[in-house]
Amino acid sequence: MSKVITFAGMLNKIDPAELSKHLGQKPKVLITMHKGPDGDAIGSSLGLWHFLKQKGIDAAVVAPDSFPKFLKWLPGCDQIIDCDHHPHRAEKAIHDCDLIFCLDFNHPSRLGAFEEMVTKSEKPKYVIDHHQDPDEFADQYYVDSDASSTAEMIYRLAAEMQETDLINADSAICLYTGLVTDTGSFRFSSVTPQVMQIAANLMSTGMDHVKVYNEIYDSSSLDRLKLRGYALSEKTVVIGDTGAAYISLSEEELERFNYRSGDTEGLVNYALSIEGVHVAGFFYERDGYIKISLRSKGEVEVNKISSALFQGGGHKMAAGGRSDLSLADTVAKFVAVAKAGFHLETIDS
Ligand code: 5GP
Ligand code: MN
Repeated sequence: MSKVITFAGMLNKIDPAELSKHLGQKPKVLITMHKGPDGDAIGSSLGLWHFLKQKGIDAAVVAPDSFPKFLKWLPGCDQIIDCDHHPHRAEKAIHDCDLIFCLDFNHPSRLGAFEEMVTKSEKPKYVIDHHQDPDEFADQYYVDSDASSTAEMIYRLAAEMQETDLINADSAICLYTGLVTDTGSFRFSSVTPQVMQIAANLMSTGMDHVKVYNEIYDSSSLDRLKLRGYALSEKTVVIGDTGAAYISLSEEELERFNYRSGDTEGLVNYALSIEGVHVAGFFYERDGYIKISLRSKGEVEVNKISSALFQGGGHKMAAGGRSDLSLADTVAKFVAVAKAGFHLETIDS
């Protein structure tokens, strides 16, 4: 498949031929991802895990914390080590490995509970990721902020190594899940003919693509559906004529609907789907802080808003962050920046 791999400027680039040679020596591998892992973090990690297994490589997958129920069907997900709950197992996995793949993030702070163990480790680290502005904490990088997903990049790397034949149906369904979730089911501008070609190639392995959709989008609990109904009817606010809207949920409101991790996934997109709205925010109270999701469908680059105001980052059109202010004060900050036309220089962050 013809393609162009783009790399981060000054950082050491992963050389696919060299990596292939290195993997040929059957090193013990550890794969990790960002905290609060989503479909692409889990999908790309497990996709790589199955691929390495086909190569006869022993690999461990460590997630910084737990992952949502709608991903708990992916082949291999039961062997993922949750560092938050099993720090000793995560520590042992680091100790036992020869190299570390860091997928779907490029700032060590995104590792949460796993950050110290990874940054302290001397083991070589390879970053494969599609976020902007990577931090220098690893040895080699394959970074492309134009890629739709890290799952796409795993496939491209396998193609560069001329080993896509090792992507079996188990690997394919994991990678396909990463593609589906990070492209809004192939809707976003990051979707290129190459992405569709990769999706087609993954399908050709015989993987069950209908299952992916059913498990992710048609497996809500009744509580989750009612929470969504409540958020839409009672908690969605359009901020005057700013073109911005938001949804906020307190811990008490989440508890009322027996909140489980993943239950608020996608809510922010409803706020963005309102006619005339081009920036949307979702704010929820969790473990003593406010977790934030931002989305854009216009000129406003929400990763900049997130890094300036909410200790976060992400992509131009989809970003996230956190706030240690109260829910009301966090929302007020967002409303103020919306009223200032999202011109950050006019806002006291
Ligand atoms: P989501 O809103 O789905 O949680 O995240 C959207 C995007 O923003 C993802 O690409 C994710 O990696 C990024 N993101 C979410 N939360 C954070 C955060 O706390 N820090 C940074 N740097 N990025 C985040
Ligand atoms: Mn991703």
